[in-house]
Amino acid sequence: MVLERQRQPLRPAELPEPTPGPGQVQLEVRACGVCRTDLHILDGELSEPKLPLVLGHQIVGVVREAGEGAERFGPGERVGVPWLGWTDGECRYCRGGRENLCDHAKFTGYDLDGGYAEVAVADERFCFPIPEGYPDLQAAPLLCAGLIGYRALRLVGEAERIGFYGFGAAAHILCQVAVHEGRRVFAFTREGDEETQAFARGLGAEWAGGSDEAPPEQLDGAIVFAPVGALMTAALRVSAKGARIVSAGIHMSDIPSFPYAELWEERTLGSVANLTRRDGEEFLQIAPAVPVETEVTVYPLEDANQALDDLRAGRFRGAAVLQP
Ligand SMILES: [Zn+2]
Ligand SMILES: [Zn+2]
Repeated sequence: MVLERQRQPLRPAELPEPTPGPGQVQLEVRACGVCRTDLHILDGELSEPKLPLVLGHQIVGVVREAGEGAERFGPGERVGVPWLGWTDGECRYCRGGRENLCDHAKFTGYDLDGGYAEVAVADERFCFPIPEGYPDLQAAPLLCAGLIGYRALRLVGEAERIGFYGFGAAAHILCQVAVHEGRRVFAFTREGDEETQAFARGLGAEWAGGSDEAPPEQLDGAIVFAPVGALMTAALRVSAKGARIVSAGIHMSDIPSFPYAELWEERTLGSVANLTRRDGEEFLQIAPAVPVETEVTVYPLEDANQALDDLRAGRFRGAAVLQP
C-alpha cells in the first residue's frame, strides 16, 4: 500500500521486491502495526516523508534473505522492525548514548520504506528478536506503541500516581507495565467514552474518566498520548509538586499558554522522541515478564485506509494491525 502524495489515500500497488543491501535483511512481513504517526504522515503534519512511501514501523517479519555482511539473523528467524531504522553512529547524540536524537537518523515508514507491504528490508542492527510467547499480530504493537510508550514511562521517573491521557494502543500496553511496577494508573479518555474507560479499569487502572474531569488525587506524572496540546496543561493543573508531564507523540496541536504558578514547584513539561535500541531491548524483556497482553484489531493489508480512518475516529480499542 503506497503513499504517493500526502492527504491522499494509500494506493494498492505491485512494487519490485526490495533486495537487501549490505547489512540488511529481507523480511516476509507477517504483521505491521498502525500508529498515529502514520496518520500524521498521511495528513501532512509531518512534512518531509520520502515519496512515494510505504508506511509502517511496527513490522513483525520472518527473515528470507540476508544482504552482504548481514549475519545477525538466519533465514526463518522472526524479527521486529521499529521506527528507528538507521543512525550515523558518530554525531554528538549517538556518541552520548542518545541515538534517538541522532542528527541524521532515518526512520522506518518515513525516510525508509516500511511494513504496509508483503516484503520489506531493514538494517539488521536496528531489528529486535521477538519474544517467543507473542503471536505475530500481538507482537506488532509492542514495537512502537509499547516501546516508545516505555521510553515515556521512564521519562516520568518514579511517579507513583500516573495519568495516561488518551487510552489507545500505547496506553493499553503501558497501563499493564505501570501496574506491574506498583504504580497507580489514572486513565483519561474522550469525554463520555465509557467503553474505553471500562477497558482501562479492566487493565488495572484505579480510576478512569474523561479528560475534562479531575482525578480523585493529584498526579505525580502523566503521559499525554493524544495529539492535543490542551491536555498538557490539563494534566499540569491536576498534578502534584514535582510532577513530570511528558508528551509521547511526534506531533501535537499547540499548547495553550498558562500561568507560571501552575508550573511552579518543580513541575516539568517534556517530550519523548523516538527510541534507542536499548529501550527496545529492555522493553522486549519486560513485556513477557509482566506479561503484557495486547488487544488487536486485525485488518487485511489492502484495508490499510480503513484502519487509518478507524484510528482517526477512535473506532477500535487497543491497537490496529495489518496482515498481508
Ligand atoms: Zn509509532
Ligand atoms: Zn547520530
